Amino acid sequence: MPTIEEDEIRSVIETLKTGWLAKGPKTFEFEKKIADFTGAPHAIALNSCTAALHLSLIAKGIVPGDEVIIPTYTFAATANVVIHQGAKPVLVDINLDDFCIISEAIENSITPKTKAIIPVHFAGNPCNMDLIMKIADNHNLAVIEDAAHAFGAKYKGRMIGTIGNTTCFSFYVTKNITTGGGGGVVTTDSDDLAKELRTLSMHGINSDAWNRYSDRGSWYYEVVNAGYEYYMNDLQASVGNTQVDKIERFQKSRENIAKLYTEELEKVTNIVVVPQEKEGMRSAWHLFPILLLHEKLNIDRNRFTEALKTEKIGSSVHFIPIHIHPYYRGKYGYRKDDFPNAQYIFEHEISLPIYPKMTQDDVLDVVLAIKKLVEYFKK
Ligand SMILES: *Cc1c(COP(=O)(O)O)cnc(C)c1O
Repeated sequence: MPTIEEDEIRSVIETLKTGWLAKGPKTFEFEKKIADFTGAPHAIALNSCTAALHLSLIAKGIVPGDEVIIPTYTFAATANVVIHQGAKPVLVDINLDDFCIISEAIENSITPKTKAIIPVHFAGNPCNMDLIMKIADNHNLAVIEDAAHAFGAKYKGRMIGTIGNTTCFSFYVTKNITTGGGGGVVTTDSDDLAKELRTLSMHGINSDAWNRYSDRGSWYYEVVNAGYEYYMNDLQASVGNTQVDKIERFQKSRENIAKLYTEELEKVTNIVVVPQEKEGMRSAWHLFPILLLHEKLNIDRNRFTEALKTEKIGSSVHFIPIHIHPYYRGKYGYRKDDFPNAQYIFEHEISLPIYPKMTQDDVLDVVLAIKKLVEYFKK
């Protein structure tokens, strides 16, 4: 649920009044704020995280026939962008404790065609980046982080956004901060990658051409690549600029909610609270997932979420694994039991409400409803 306050609304109206709605000063301001916040040398604002992932693959030279390793437990976009490049998403199972890619299993999936790894920081809890970077180093693979859930997260004191070759954040309406209807950003420490990503996001128009040939007039541009229209616009950025200033408040609030949920739900039978924040990590707490041990109850997961709804508690399930969807199953012939951990988590997971404006009473209402149902459906 997005937290839109008066200043986001004011900021959009101001931008509308300037008449400059395309990519311009607000977007550059947003990029600077993202770079400052994450500590990444470069931030390129785009219209989605999907665009950020796609451009990262292109900029890292992923071409038809290549393989890219991703966890099966993710949103469709992580797999689709690989397929858009004519490459094959090679699925890897997830850990039962953090729902992130099993870093040790990555090595077994590497072939001579493997070119990149896309770790997904599930729920905003960072993956084992030390090991992933080491594996990537040993096999000369690119690391493109899907940090759609992880804006504000930290890994061993380092901000997410400063570790992989590129890091892709989402500002879609449901994410921790939003730029309105959608948006994303890609960060990198490489000057060359940054330049390439920026050019690709603007139809392949070389932004340097403006400076080099300015004597030809402001109408002059050069296309140096078959790029995309993936850049962010100033209306989105004006929402983003106000949101990013609030990230610490939003984050604190998510942490308090997660702490209260954890304390309360750990006492409830047949509910498992995962993932936990690991030593030295800061989760962005984009989601608050629990596992319902429904085998011990007279209700299955789907009926449990329906029952929560009648208690006026909205919940969701993250994710339907990639290998379950008809498209990927049909294309690559996956079976349900190919990824047992992901399958288990998928069949037991429930994402509870978590959003910055959620009060302690709201959290306790959710806990109460869960306790009531677990008690009622006890075997
Ligand atoms: C939301 C999401 C995306 C896509 O983000 P967009 O900004 O909507 O393109 C990618 N990966 C994961 C894991 C997501 O949750």
